[in-house]
Parts: sequence; C-alpha cells; structure tokens
Amino acid sequence: MIPTPFLAGKIVAVMGLGKSGTATAAALRASGATVWAWDDNAAARETAIAAGVPIVDLHAADMAALALLVWSPGIAHTHPRPHPIADKARAAGIPLVCDVDLLARAKPDARFLAVTGTNGKSTTTTLLAHVLAGAGRGVAAGGNLGTAALAMPDLGAEGRYVLELSSYQLELVPSLRLAAGVLLNITPDHLGRHGGMDGYIAAKRILFDRLAKDGTAVIGVDDEPCAAMADELECRGLRVVRLSAARRLGSGVSAPDGVLLDNGIPVCNLKSIARLPGRHNWQNACAAYAMARADGASPEAIAAALSTYPGLAHRQELVAVIDGVAYVNDSKATNADAAEKALVCYDRIYWIIGGQMKEGGIASLAPLFPRIAHAFLIGEAGKPFAAALGRQVPHTTCGTLDVAVAKAHAMATADRAEGAVVLLSPACASWDQFKSFEHRGETFRQLVAALPGERRAA
Ligand code: ADP
Repeated sequence: MIPTPFLAGKIVAVMGLGKSGTATAAALRASGATVWAWDDNAAARETAIAAGVPIVDLHAADMAALALLVWSPGIAHTHPRPHPIADKARAAGIPLVCDVDLLARAKPDARFLAVTGTNGKSTTTTLLAHVLAGAGRGVAAGGNLGTAALAMPDLGAEGRYVLELSSYQLELVPSLRLAAGVLLNITPDHLGRHGGMDGYIAAKRILFDRLAKDGTAVIGVDDEPCAAMADELECRGLRVVRLSAARRLGSGVSAPDGVLLDNGIPVCNLKSIARLPGRHNWQNACAAYAMARADGASPEAIAAALSTYPGLAHRQELVAVIDGVAYVNDSKATNADAAEKALVCYDRIYWIIGGQMKEGGIASLAPLFPRIAHAFLIGEAGKPFAAALGRQVPHTTCGTLDVAVAKAHAMATADRAEGAVVLLSPACASWDQFKSFEHRGETFRQLVAALPGERRAA
C-alpha cells in the first residue's frame, strides 16, 4: 500500500467504491485522512460499510470542507451528461483527481512510465514491467489493470511504476510527471463518454502533456490520428519515438516482418515468441522496447526479456488442446478491432462471438470471414450478428456460452482438419451475461476443462 501522508488531517471524498475506490479509501485512512466515501449504487455502499469504510452522501455534503475529490475514472463526470457531484465539486473549486494522481503526489521522486491506447494497453504494460524487471530494475505495474494505484507496493525513491492509463484516468491526473509515455493506437471507442472522436483523441493526448521536461513521447504511427499527433508533438519540441508494426522506420522502432528494428537495425525476431502472436503484438513489443530503451535498458537485455514473457490471461490464451483441436480464450477482445487481431492468426476457426454489441458490430471483419468454419452466437448480439454473417458464414445461434462450447467442440472434433481452433473472441462487451470479460473467460476455461477427449499440454 502507498501511504499518502500529505493528506493527513484533511477531509478527502472518494466517489465510486469499486476496486480502486476501496483501495484509495483504505490508503487515505491509514495515512490519517478523514474519508467521505460514496457510491450511487446501494449494494456497493453496503459492501463498503461492511469493510468499515465511512459513507457520506456526497450529493448532500458540504464540498467546501474537502481538500480533494478522488473520482473513480469509470464513472462518467462530463459526457454524456455531467454528474451532479462532479459539478458541485467543480463549482466549489475542489479538484477532481483519480487514485493515480495520489500515487504521483505520494512518490514525487519515483520514475513513472505510462501506457495508453485503444488496444494493447495491458499487454504492453505487463510486457514493459517484465522487460524492466529482466533488466534488473525494481518495478511494479498497475493502474487500469490488476492492482489499483494505491495498492501497489511501496518501492521507495528508486522505484519505477509502470502505469496502464485509460482515457478516463488521463483526464484525472494533473500531478503526474512521466519519464516516458506510450500511446499505442487510436480507433473509435468510448465515444459517448468523450463527446465524440475529437474528445477521445484529446483525452489520449493528455498523456504527452504529463511528460516530465526531459520525458520521451513514444507513439504508434500505424493509424491516422496517432501519426498526426506524432508530427504535432515533434513540432512542439518533444522527444518523439515512432513505432510501426506495418512498415520499416529508418528512425524509430518497427517490426514490419516480425523482426524488431531499432532505427532500422535488427534486434530480435518476434515471430519466435509464442506468447506474442500476431502483428498487433509486434506493435506491443516495439512499444515495450522503446519505453525500456528510454529508461536506459540495453537492447540485449530487452531482447532477452521479451523472449520469456509469460503472456496474459484472456488474450489469445491457449487453454487446452483436445483431440488435436486448440481452444483459445480471447475473452478480452471486446470490440471488432481486437477480435480481428486473433482471427488473422488462425485459418480454420470455430468462432464463439457475441455479448453486448459495440458500435459498428462486426461488419469490418467481413474480409476474414473465409477463415471461419462455423460461428456460434451468444448473448444480445446473436440476432444482429446472424444478419451480419448472413449466407457467407455458416452459423448457429446458441444463446449461452455453455451451449456454444458444446456445439463448437462437437463440430471441430468431427472436422479433424489440421489447425482447427475453437476461438472465444467475442467482439462484444460481456455485461449482458457475465460480470466481466474475466468472468466470461474463466467460464470458457471451466467449460473447456470439462470437455471429454485426449489432451496434450497447452
Ligand atoms: P487493452 O488493455 O488496451 O484492452 P490488451 O493488451 O488487454 O489491451 O489486449 C486486448 C485485446 O486487444 C487483445 O486480445 C487483442 O485482441 C487486441 N490487441 C492487443 N494489442 C493490440 C494492438 N497493439 N493493436 C490492436 N489490437 C491489439
């Protein structure tokens, strides 16, 4: 836990009592602050009360008494409509920050490296932490993934914190000063929350406003908004390192053919790293490389560490091989763009898709439909996805994941084709049927574990 002594004796409000809010309340109280915690959800308040967190209705509270309002980034505060508590705090001149900002204030001498982007944040964050640890540095990773900011270990003054930051968090970290920051990519997502694409891009740009004076801006240039931003940042005089997994960069880090190139010079072959399959992961590897270089690690140490990356659960995670059929859990693919990254890696796919549909559906995936042997549709998106697949892809509407796994197993096993894969890559949010994408992936894993057949080590 990270202590926050600078808030001792002050009143601090905590809005939102999920994982990060609860950890924040605990850290603040342990450091002698008076906590006024609130969540609009009664069940979340009950859980907090049971854990001893003091609840104060912030809708009715006197905001002028507060030193700070710590806001859970998942709660909308401006778009699609302003939240009354956020409005009230702003009117009283009380700053809104998230827990990452408290971490930055608590550790003014630590080195912060941050990762953002529409896709690939968690992979790059854990990969970068793995690489830095491999290069002998004391490092902890957290933020948007895994460990909440104030629940991270206290690494002392020499520590390095690798932070995954969402666009929501970026809006709430005024005190953060980064040694290096990477923006991987931008594709349309969370547009309602940011009032459109311009708002979303502006939120991502904040990453570079938070660079320390001698900080390094690392940016993927394979999409238009990011390429334009790289040019703009350079014009502003920032130290910019460009990344590409699509083309060779004479200056920057690239991997157009799976060989990582540093300013055009080959460093290592990414194609031989089983836990980083696909071009999208080459982008993540380039990002981790560039960030670790910015932190002073040697190319040799980084290359050695990349090759031992253990991978992340729910991202193209091979959970079993049964009777020659691979079962891959890619539950984290919550939009079509993410699902595409897995689809391109396999040629004969028994595809489990569906859930709560995202803007645009799966129309963009049509060029990959020839790879689909059969699709199994679950959740709310079943109907629209059946229409999108039409006559082009044979499909079965299954409703629930257990039915989909059983049917996919039967069909893929009967197929006996070389390289057949049952792939859960839903291109949808999970909330219509599951608590989270992790819950969906765990459920898939359990259903696969219960399947009959001869297994070989995954
Ligand atoms: P995030 O934390 O941004 O959601 P993850 O690292 O958890 O990203 O990866 C989620 C999914 O996004 C992966 O399963 C994969 O399908 C896709 N993905 C990963 N890295 C990239 C990338 N660099 N570009 C595009 N898609 C990616």
